[in-house]
Amino acid sequence: MHIELDDELCEANGICQKHAPTIFEVTDTDELIIRHEAYSEALRAEVEMAIRMCPRQALSLKP
Ligand code: SF4
Repeated sequence: MHIELDDELCEANGICQKHAPTIFEVTDTDELIIRHEAYSEALRAEVEMAIRMCPRQALSLKP
């Protein structure tokens, strides 16, 4: 699985980080970092929740 981010849509509000802090981090300079290497199936539920809760629909999960 690969997490995709649409940079144009993301407003760096940190909501995804709240739901899946292992994977998402908003930096001090309002940039969203996605730790793809930290993704595992065990985290899938929280990543899916983070994707669902993004108010900008900037995230998606691709096979
Ligand atoms: S929840 Fe969406 S808009 Fe907010 S930081 Fe994450 S990807 Fe960006």
